[in-house]
Amino acid sequence: MTAELLSVGTELLLGEIVDTNTAWLAQDLAQRGVDIYWSQRVGDNLLRLTAAIRQALARSDLLVMCGGLGPTDDDLSREALAAVCGETPQIDEGLALNLRTRFVATNRPMPQRNLKQAWLIPSAEALPNPIGTAPGWLVRRPDGKRIVALPGPPRELQRMWLSEVVPRLSLPPAALFRQTFKTQGIGESAVAELLGELTLSANPSVATYAKRDGVHVRVAAKAASEAEARALAEPALEQVQQRLSEYLWGSDSDELPMLLQQRLRVRGETVASMESLTGGLIAQLLTSAAGASAVYRGGVVAYGAQAKAAFGVPRDLLERYGSVSEEVVQAMANAARRLFASDYGLAATGVAGPDASEGKAVGEVYVAFSGPGGVTVKQLRLPPLEREWIQERTAYTLLALLWSQLRA
Ligand code: ATP
Ligand code: MG
Repeated sequence: MTAELLSVGTELLLGEIVDTNTAWLAQDLAQRGVDIYWSQRVGDNLLRLTAAIRQALARSDLLVMCGGLGPTDDDLSREALAAVCGETPQIDEGLALNLRTRFVATNRPMPQRNLKQAWLIPSAEALPNPIGTAPGWLVRRPDGKRIVALPGPPRELQRMWLSEVVPRLSLPPAALFRQTFKTQGIGESAVAELLGELTLSANPSVATYAKRDGVHVRVAAKAASEAEARALAEPALEQVQQRLSEYLWGSDSDELPMLLQQRLRVRGETVASMESLTGGLIAQLLTSAAGASAVYRGGVVAYGAQAKAAFGVPRDLLERYGSVSEEVVQAMANAARRLFASDYGLAATGVAGPDASEGKAVGEVYVAFSGPGGVTVKQLRLPPLEREWIQERTAYTLLALLWSQLRA
């Protein structure tokens, strides 16, 4: 079964509001194993709206429309559906009574134009909306296709979809299995290369996504039941794990800060930080998971050379090598460890841009990890993208470095 989504509203087209309804419906439909091949957004215009509905009916089994069910003249979803079906809307007395009762209950007079929300055409069934004024429509076409019209406000749309539409659609049994693997220290194209032919398969599918905490790989499979979907995904899961084992740090809802905290707790160890270009982001990430106080001792933002010296980086190193150097990041990690009497010290220095600094290019970054076994330094040459991206990439790389050390 194929479904198509059509969201209605000029404000969506212009980007004034973000079309979250489409994302929500698409995720729900995918979870139910329904294929979505098309998704459209149309303004409040009768001609273009009817054209979009006709086009959708020509290529999809189910059309889900959202928005445009309000009482005003620019809410045109009912008019467009009536035009496409070649039917004339009539006021449905039951719906009209519901509407009047709603208005009486809230002590407001009902504007005449609200009566539009009591319209129905012969091929449509009204879908109750106990939390709003606009009922939805379920249109059954002679060829077996279905059209659903839902109100735009997300709360109303979601309730109507789950409680009124899904039970009426009798969707074929289908289940989707999904697992997301999370990697660090490897770019998206390199991941794709390692995955090779796996990314060409449609079911199970294997896809890569570049995220702030590294490249994610999502394996998905669709089958009649959850167990079958899982079994179908199994070979791909194994292959992904095998080919990326060096870079994997977690899956699904795993977050690096939480994993680090758990690992440090088990080992009874603590960590501290001294950061320059990340401006506190490392401290922020390390404290983002509840319970961080058990393992995170504290940190400083030693942004300028003065601050680095004040917090314990030897002046001669700063003068000889400059703030953005292997020698200084190493001294920063050691200083953090000393300053906070922690087992591990983390440090980052580099050029976040947009301008070069001390003759170092944007994206030249050094991270270091100091522990009982000595200091590990890693130099990163990040592409000169936005500051924020360079800062995030630096912070996550350092957390991943700590993670891989603690795993060893
Ligand atoms: P109303 O009776 O409120 O006019 P409606 O069915 O006519 O409902 P719209 O006028 O299209 O729906 O949208 C009403 C409100 O619902 C919008 O102002 C917006 O806040 C929200 N909304 C509409 N469409 C979407 C969408 N696709 N994604 C997220 N929010 C939406
Ligand atoms: Mg409206």
